[in-house]
Amino acid sequence: MADNKLYEVLRVSRNAGDAEIKKSYRKLAKEFHPDKNPEAGDKFKEISFAYEVLSDPKKRQIYDKHGLKGVQEGGSDGFHADDIFSQLFGGGGGLFGGLGGFGGGGLGGRRRPRRGEDTVHPLKVTLEDMYNGKTAKLQLSKNVLCATCAGVGGAEGAVSTCKHCRGYGYKVTYKQLAPGMTQQLQERCAQCQATGEIINEKDRCITCEGKKTVNQTKILEVHVDKGMRDSQKILFRGEGDQVPDVQPGDVVIVLQQKPHATFERSGNDLVMTKSIGLADALCGASFVVRHLDGRNLLIKHPRGHVIRPGDVKGVVGEGMPHYRNPFEKGNLYINFEVTFPSNHFASEKVFAELRSKLESGPTTVVPPDAEEVDLQEFDPSHRDAAGRSGEAYASDEDEMPQHSGVQCAHQ
Ligand SMILES: [Zn+2]
Ligand SMILES: [Zn+2]
Repeated sequence: MADNKLYEVLRVSRNAGDAEIKKSYRKLAKEFHPDKNPEAGDKFKEISFAYEVLSDPKKRQIYDKHGLKGVQEGGSDGFHADDIFSQLFGGGGGLFGGLGGFGGGGLGGRRRPRRGEDTVHPLKVTLEDMYNGKTAKLQLSKNVLCATCAGVGGAEGAVSTCKHCRGYGYKVTYKQLAPGMTQQLQERCAQCQATGEIINEKDRCITCEGKKTVNQTKILEVHVDKGMRDSQKILFRGEGDQVPDVQPGDVVIVLQQKPHATFERSGNDLVMTKSIGLADALCGASFVVRHLDGRNLLIKHPRGHVIRPGDVKGVVGEGMPHYRNPFEKGNLYINFEVTFPSNHFASEKVFAELRSKLESGPTTVVPPDAEEVDLQEFDPSHRDAAGRSGEAYASDEDEMPQHSGVQCAHQ
């Protein structure tokens, strides 16, 4: 039986001439244009498609000989029959569903994601956890296939393909911008919530209310290994939300390290800042550092070796364990700050003694015309404000910075 559908769509006979086809197409396109006739649905697309085939001698010849299937298979040279086919004929009950043999295999069918999305959860951990290792229990809420209906959503036979989108979950609208130029728009099907299926209310599974999945609480044991880092990911394959016909995604735990009071991490090394007094800096120091595993490290700096402000010293092997090789460890680095004694901390006699002990610069030679001035306590922030005040006055009074003393009182 010869395929006659496209001629029927254009309401012409099989041996109609080009002029007749064109004339009929124009008439029908006018009549069924979506602007004029929104009720007609896909009729305009059918007409456009039929005209596209029958107005092209080459395509018409293929169609006459081999039918729609021939057009689809022979549709090369810029004629993307596949696109049109998947839209008009895909999903079984397509527009030309009556023809049979086109709706089925090879034309796309329903597209579902192959694999579900990953679920990402942050997990706050301490530096101690990453040093010593830890097993954390994480309570997760996830969707699992409903056991009552085995993920079907209702009684057997209760589920039917959504008629509004023919099971696609999406409606494709096909807008012709100019002959041979079309724009394709995808729209979520509201009738089936883009699932492509409709379940009768009375046949719906009571447990999941037709949703096919139920929410469940699951406890995951997360092993934080020694040496793991901030932002490191721990994967639980296939533990993501379950959706029918979709391979579940993974649960991804992302470690978030809480700041530590003493240590900062730098790769496998630990860095800390230690404040020592001037006496310790000059005469040798010893102090205790409580490590991440609870050990107390006694750190001694020998007498005779001066510690200067900003000096960095290291303890080999007291850093973080290497991930997957925890017997290897990084180093511990200590940044030294030196606190100086308060004013008048000693008697005149002691000052004289100290001076004699400490190295000082070359003796000052005072020229005879030298003018003696007072050196006072000075707050650098005040100097800053005064320095900028000229600009501030010039630009905008409202943005004037805070000034010291008397000026402020006037404002
Ligand atoms: Zn169910
Ligand atoms: Zn639908």
